[in-house]
Amino acid sequence: MPLRVTFLGTGGAVPTTERNPSGIFVAREGEGLLFDAAEGTQRQMMRFGTGFSISQIFVTHLHGDHVLGIPGLLQTMDFNDREDPLAIHTSRGTRREIESLVRALGNRPSFPVRINEVGGGDVAYRADEYEVRAFATDHDTRSVGYALVEDDRKGRFDRERAEELGVPVGPKFSRLHEGESVELEDGTVVDPEQVVGEPRPGRSLVYTGDTRPSAATIEVADEPELVIHDATFADDRADRAADTAHSTARQAAEIATRAGAERLALMHLSSRYAGDTSSHLEEAREVFAGEVFVPDDGETLEIEYPDA
Ligand SMILES: [Zn+2]
Ligand SMILES: [Zn+2]
Repeated sequence: MPLRVTFLGTGGAVPTTERNPSGIFVAREGEGLLFDAAEGTQRQMMRFGTGFSISQIFVTHLHGDHVLGIPGLLQTMDFNDREDPLAIHTSRGTRREIESLVRALGNRPSFPVRINEVGGGDVAYRADEYEVRAFATDHDTRSVGYALVEDDRKGRFDRERAEELGVPVGPKFSRLHEGESVELEDGTVVDPEQVVGEPRPGRSLVYTGDTRPSAATIEVADEPELVIHDATFADDRADRAADTAHSTARQAAEIATRAGAERLALMHLSSRYAGDTSSHLEEAREVFAGEVFVPDDGETLEIEYPDA
């Protein structure tokens, strides 16, 4: 089941010709999730072909470079006669501001929009096979990050072993795989543990939004496949990162290392690093042994299962 991330906007607060401010599109089995929606996000969605069929928007915080795309996006959905409901998740205490973005067109869109306030530790959205968890971040306004965490998958079914035990090919195979014991014609009982392996972990990805390094980022998911972290500055402006409640690439790498992440995407780069991301990459690589990259707008990434 594909899990694909499209980086819609990878820049910091001020757009550049190369980088739009924050927006990340995640597609999982036909379902679209949007994380932050800067000004210009809907156009990035068109450019990079993600489509508009999203069911959820996850807002990390209310700074314009994370939310100003919401009114335009909702207006286009309205023009497109959208009927499906849309949920907007946002940090606790910010419902009213999101409501005013939704009403920025003068009245509410004709499709239902639900606003859901979340705090660190809450499950913002529970789907069939995964959930999106909110976690505490450390920015200069009310803020949260989000982690998409898939459920464990069933263990592998050992078909050969089942046949050796005399289980006839057919419905008993699937009952065993579902975790039920089955009785054979001679009265022998075969238990699922005899033929089904350990549950296999699902995939997970973590998105911080804007933040200083925050311990909750490490706790929210177990060895995530991908951490997308604020890396507004490099070491040369570490003081400025602390003052403005952002992170450096090195700090992002420290968090990714402690989280046991496989990959690290450095996001929200200040426009002063336009065109040269080398210090970000060098400094992060000194700390983080996994794969680190600075995504371009439009870059996509398929996330594989840990046992793939
Ligand atoms: Zn920002
Ligand atoms: Zn911010």
